[in-house]
Amino acid sequence: MIRGNGRLTATAALVMLASCGSKGDATTTQHPTTEFNADSAMSYVRQQVAFGARIPGSTAAKLCGDWMVAHLRLKADTVIEQTWTHTTAKGVKLPMRNILARFKPNATQRILYVTHWDTRPVADSDPVPANRTKPFDGANDGGSGVALQLALADALKKTPPGVGVDLLFVDGEDWGSFGPPEVDVLIGSTYFAQHLPSADYKPLFGVLWDMIGDADLTIYQEINSANAAPEVVQRVWNKAKEMGYGDVFVPQAKDPITDDHVPLIKAGLRVIDVIDIDYPNPESVRNGVSYHHTLADKVDKVSVKSLKIVGDVALALLR
Ligand SMILES: [Zn+2]
Repeated sequence: MIRGNGRLTATAALVMLASCGSKGDATTTQHPTTEFNADSAMSYVRQQVAFGARIPGSTAAKLCGDWMVAHLRLKADTVIEQTWTHTTAKGVKLPMRNILARFKPNATQRILYVTHWDTRPVADSDPVPANRTKPFDGANDGGSGVALQLALADALKKTPPGVGVDLLFVDGEDWGSFGPPEVDVLIGSTYFAQHLPSADYKPLFGVLWDMIGDADLTIYQEINSANAAPEVVQRVWNKAKEMGYGDVFVPQAKDPITDDHVPLIKAGLRVIDVIDIDYPNPESVRNGVSYHHTLADKVDKVSVKSLKIVGDVALALLR
């Protein structure tokens, strides 16, 4: 995913200044807990990284995808795989695989959660030029969202949801260039938008979870989401506040981000992006230090505490 234009970034700088020093310590507050198991989620981050970078077409991607499907078949009522070949602008043929785990597949009232499971092929934002052609772990970028949804599947297996739930894992989010123009990115979400589970598929709402494991977690309201589905943004941020996580889910708009929610919104689905794009934090990024698309995107930059916060909110929204 990529951040949008400079005008909004300037606005963002003001927002960031206003928020300086306001980040509380969530551990000092009592939160209504859910059965979301963040230790399991953390183990799922580690297991993905252990496969190697989940680059489309790689052995690591094949094995990790198989592992995800095996896990989900034990937890969900139905698991659907969408497989196809994407031919890139340069003529490379990429095997693609979306995975959709469904709970109560016949329920008409449904909630859609989305994450990407691929890893960007190279760490092209690494500060060291020689590293920019190397693969990287993607512990947070890719890994954290998958871990979140696998742990949600565990919780939904134990206590089934009242509504239908679809956990979608899309491939090829991060393969190519975000441009503009966008080339060979958001591949899986675009495919899903064109191949919905049914012609009348219309979830009540949807949330894309991306880069939510950052140990230094602050999540602003992404602008494309706030414009397209403001009621969904309100629902998620209200739930977070209700649970005592208002210091992490900051109710302020910041940055339009091109991510997997965009093709879904274009297809008429009300899906928002929950993302902490400033990895590790806005001040660091302002000073030119970011882990995004670098070799530093490793397990040690992800925390159980952050996974627990987002996991609690994500699960409470389904109850
Ligand atoms: Zn990425």
